[in-house]
Amino acid sequence: MAGMTLIVVRCPACGTPLTPGDDDLAIACAQCGAGLLLADSGPQPVEIQYAQSNLLKVTTWRPWWIFRGSVNLIKRETQGGNRSNEARQFWAQPRVMSVPAWELSIMTFKQAGLQMLQQPPMLKAISRPSGVKLTPAVVSAEDARKMLEYLIFSLEAGRDDWLKNLDFQIDVGAPELWAIAAE
Ligand SMILES: [Zn+2]
Repeated sequence: MAGMTLIVVRCPACGTPLTPGDDDLAIACAQCGAGLLLADSGPQPVEIQYAQSNLLKVTTWRPWWIFRGSVNLIKRETQGGNRSNEARQFWAQPRVMSVPAWELSIMTFKQAGLQMLQQPPMLKAISRPSGVKLTPAVVSAEDARKMLEYLIFSLEAGRDDWLKNLDFQIDVGAPELWAIAAE
């Protein structure tokens, strides 16, 4: 294919050669699980935390950007069937908010993101597993922040009422990159 370049980089932790795809932003070493960020300025190590899972054997991991913080509903107006109290209760305390970081269609992105927003994962970091198959991350931390906004908007629009107006403020720090077991 024209314009396609094959880059070979080495794992910063164990030296295993890795072959990231053109659009990959962050990958994990298949050997030792260490993270590598493919920045414009060159590859650099990035911390990927692996979440404890109750699956017996994890074959696939998916990358997620995890934000911790709160959402302040400034204005939520409806045309009827008002669920704003439910919404205020939902956002009353700080939450763990997860944004899928691998390549997904908008529909699947929304599905996966909303589910995790409604039922936040119990995140307990385990030590780096070996023989990891992590789907490459293609979403940057900056884009994840915008996608989080979209997910919050979708969640509010999806409540059982007629949402007319929504204004909110997201108060979160920089996200962490987590690998969560997929199957
Ligand atoms: Zn490695």
